Amino acid sequence: MTSALQSYSQDCWQDGSGDAKPLLDAATGAEVARIPARGPDVAAMLAYARGTGGPALRALTFPERAATLKALAKHLSGHLEEFAELSLCTGATRRDTAVDVDGGIGTVAVYASKGARELPDATVLDDGATEPLGRGGTFAGRHLYFSRLGAAVQINAFNFPVWGMLEKFAPAFLAGMPSVVKPAGQTAYLTELVVRRIVESGLLPRGALSLLCAGPAGLLDNLTAQDTLAFTGSATTAEAVRAHPVVVGRSVAFSAEADSLNCSILGTDVAVDGPEFGLYVDQLVTEMTVKAGQKCTAIRRALVPEALADAVTGAVSARLSAVVVGHPAEPGVGMGPVASIAQRVEVRERVRELMMAASLVHGNPSRVDVAGADAERGAFLSPMLLRCDDLTASEPHEVEAFGPVSTLLPYRSPDDAIAAAGRGGGSLVASVVTADADLARTFVSGLAPWHGRILILDSTDAAESTGHGVAMPQMKHGGPGRAGGGEELGGLRALTHYLHRTAVQGNPQLLESLSASTEE
Ligand code: NAP
Repeated sequence: MTSALQSYSQDCWQDGSGDAKPLLDAATGAEVARIPARGPDVAAMLAYARGTGGPALRALTFPERAATLKALAKHLSGHLEEFAELSLCTGATRRDTAVDVDGGIGTVAVYASKGARELPDATVLDDGATEPLGRGGTFAGRHLYFSRLGAAVQINAFNFPVWGMLEKFAPAFLAGMPSVVKPAGQTAYLTELVVRRIVESGLLPRGALSLLCAGPAGLLDNLTAQDTLAFTGSATTAEAVRAHPVVVGRSVAFSAEADSLNCSILGTDVAVDGPEFGLYVDQLVTEMTVKAGQKCTAIRRALVPEALADAVTGAVSARLSAVVVGHPAEPGVGMGPVASIAQRVEVRERVRELMMAASLVHGNPSRVDVAGADAERGAFLSPMLLRCDDLTASEPHEVEAFGPVSTLLPYRSPDDAIAAAGRGGGSLVASVVTADADLARTFVSGLAPWHGRILILDSTDAAESTGHGVAMPQMKHGGPGRAGGGEELGGLRALTHYLHRTAVQGNPQLLESLSASTEE
C-alpha cells in the first residue's frame, strides 16, 4: 500500500484523518498515493497563515518578495526532471508537463521579473494621483492599495496540479498574502511533491505557504472578511462555493475560473491552399490533444465557413489519425490518457450528449488503439471530432466534454459566427484565424464582451504565437458568465485581487508621504 499524502500546516508536515482514497496512475491503474478524507486542523492552518505568514510577508518590500520568487523559480527549475517523472502518473506526456510544470515555474519567474522591474520599493501601491477636494488646496484624497490581513485560499482543479498552484501563489506572494493551497484530490501527489521541494528550499518566510491534501471540509467555514478565495474547477462546484454562507455573509473576496466552451473561428477570407488554413488545422489538433484536451482553454467549438467545412473536417481527421495514443513515457506517443477512469466515464457521457445534435466524424468514444499500455486499465480515449451542421442546436454551446473532444460548426456569415460564439454563455478564450484586418476587427469587437482573451492568428504572427490555449502570465486569464466571471494573471493586475484599495483623505503633504513613490 502507498503512503497517504500529508498536508503542510503551521510549518510542518501533518497527517490527515479518515479513510484514505487511493489515487491511481492514469495510464496503468497502479496506485500512486492515497489521499485522506480530512486534513489536519484547518482552522489552525488558516490562523497560522494569517498570524505568522501574513506579518512576515508584509514586512518585505515588493522587490524583496520578487527576489524570493526569482530564487524560488530557479530552485524549482532544478527539480524539473523529478516533477516530470511523477507527472507521468497524471497521464502527462513531456509536452503536457511543459504546460503544467514548466509553465507554472515560468509564471513564478515572470512575476519575479515584473515585481523587480515594475513595482516600487515599497509595501503599498498607488492607484492614481492625489485629487484636490477643496478650493484652497489644503484638503485632498488619493487611492492606495494595502495588503489584506488574511489568507489567500486557493482551490484548484485536477488538470493543473502545478501551474494551478503557482499561478495563484506567485501574485498572492508578491502582494504580501500567505497562500493556503487546496489541490484537487486526483493529482494532489504532484502538488505535494512540489510543495515539499519549496519547503526544503527554505526560501519562503514561515507561514507563507500551506497545503491541504484532503477534502475541503472546514476550509470555507473558517474564512474571514480579510481572506480571499480563488477557485478553479467545474461550474457546478463554483456555484456551490460562491453561494457558501460564509463566503456570502462575510463578503469574502471571491474569484472563479470554471468551465468554458471556447471557440476557434476560421475567417471567411481563408482559402484551402492559403497559409491560414494550415494554421487553423494545426492549432485545433494541438488543442484537442495537448493534455488529452483537459485544458479549460481548449477549443471545444470549431466555427468554420460553410464552404470550408468539408475541407477542415478532412484535414483535421487526417491529422488526428496520425496521433499515437498511449503511455505518456512511450516514444512517439502524442497523447496520453485522461486523468482517471472516472474522468473517462464523464467524457463518454458528455460525448453521448453532444451526439444528440452532432455526428462523430473522427474517433470512437468506446475504442482506442493504445501504445505501451492497456487500453482498459488506463484512462485512454481516442481524440474525437464531431460535426454539427445546425448552428442553432443547443448541445455544442452548452456541453463541455473535458477531454480530447471538439465540435466542428459550419457558419454562414461572420455575424452568425459571433452570435454562435456568444451562445457559450461566456468563455475564457476565442481565437480567430484570418489574414483580413477588417474582418479581424469585426470579430474582436463582436467577441470581446463574451471572452476573457482573444487571439488573432495569421501567417505574420504564427511563428511567435503562444497559442490558443496557453494562459500567459502577462495576459488576463478568466472569462465572463459560464467561465466563472473571475480574473487571474494579467501581469501585475493580478495583485489587485490580494490588495485592498482604500481612499485616504487629508492634507496633500500627508497624502504624498503615504504614497508608494515616497515610502522609505
Ligand atoms: P471540481 O470537481 O469542481 O473540483 C475543483 C476543486 O474544488 C477541487 O480541488 C475539489 O476538491 C474542490 N471542491 C469540490 N467540492 C468543493 C466544495 N464543496 N467546497 C470547496 N472545494 C470543493 O473540478 P475538477 O473536476 O477538479 O476540474 C475540472 C473542471 O475544471 C473542468 O470543468 C474545467 O473546465 C475546469 N477548469 C477550469 C479552469 C479555468 O481556469 N477556468 C482551469 C482548469 C479546469 P476535491 O478534488 O477534493 O473534490
